[in-house]
Amino acid sequence: MQIGGCKIEITRKRIKHLYLRMKEPGCVQVSAPKHWPGGYIQSILEARSDWIKEQQQKLLQRQLATPRFQSYEDHAEVFFEGQSYRLNAVLKSAFPHLGVVTLCHKKKTLTLSLSDPSNLDARKKQLDKWLRAQLKERIAQLLEHWQPIMEVVASDFGVRKMKTRWGSCNIRTHKIWLNFDLISKAPESLEYVVVHELTHLYERYHNKRFYSLMDHYLPDWRKRKHRLNS
Ligand SMILES: [Zn+2]
Repeated sequence: MQIGGCKIEITRKRIKHLYLRMKEPGCVQVSAPKHWPGGYIQSILEARSDWIKEQQQKLLQRQLATPRFQSYEDHAEVFFEGQSYRLNAVLKSAFPHLGVVTLCHKKKTLTLSLSDPSNLDARKKQLDKWLRAQLKERIAQLLEHWQPIMEVVASDFGVRKMKTRWGSCNIRTHKIWLNFDLISKAPESLEYVVVHELTHLYERYHNKRFYSLMDHYLPDWRKRKHRLNS
């Protein structure tokens, strides 16, 4: 079964209502009550085809906004906190005063210090590790700042690569996940995502209440969101 160019996967469950989810563009996951006839489910899905198309568009846009490929060659462009840097690598023993990664804001270079600077895998490993640590540090600072203001507490947070989302929040465990690519984005975009996920600790859904909380805590969140996705 297909609707709006999307594959439909139906799972029958002991539930009373029908639930729709789209995690990946092109695939709609449906949970439906066990006893509902297939034709009835199909008619509901057809009635929701506008929503399905809209979700599909949203997910595709978000995917396109995320850089898909990072080169580790010399002079490759690396984005860090919304700024563009040129990558290079030097021999660690020849530059003992350098840290694992050195940013030069003036020359806009990002220098990796390695025992084998020509090894692209080693470059990737070192850069990703450093970016992840930088992102974690910034998230920790943002949580420290925002949790007392919003009077909510995330039980924990993690960073991972995500294809379609900037962040997510586990309502049950209160754990927040943030997209690794956020370190390439402007600091105010990261702050927007952190506040967005913390707001989910009050309100699970993107409804009126959710947006009025966002307006209250971060009045310019729409501008930040736009910048993040453009
Ligand atoms: Zn959300």
